[in-house]
Amino acid sequence: MALIECPMCAKKISSKAKSCPHCKADFENLTQGQLEARRDIANIKRQQGLMTQSFIAMLVFCSGVLMYFLGDHETYVWMPLAGQIIGVTGLVWYLSLRIFMVAQKVKSKPRQIG
Ligand SMILES: [Zn+2]
Repeated sequence: MALIECPMCAKKISSKAKSCPHCKADFENLTQGQLEARRDIANIKRQQGLMTQSFIAMLVFCSGVLMYFLGDHETYVWMPLAGQIIGVTGLVWYLSLRIFMVAQKVKSKPRQIG
């Protein structure tokens, strides 16, 4: 009995499982092609989720930069510090997402060839 990735939720399941115990996806009535199509859809959804997240992270970074450089620092004395914290948080978040996405692409390459 080998462990494979569920095509829907990517969690580890038994290769003999008729359905996924995590997301309840039913494999019994699906052909190999249908399973692959589902896996592709799940992959695209994951990628889209990551893209959305990195877009939000970029927005967070930009608003931090704006607060730092353009905020009314005399009225809001906390703004430069808040801008720094928010900007760094957004940048770290964005960069770690990009690294994660590149790592995912590298990982999924052999699967596409084979
Ligand atoms: Zn699943």
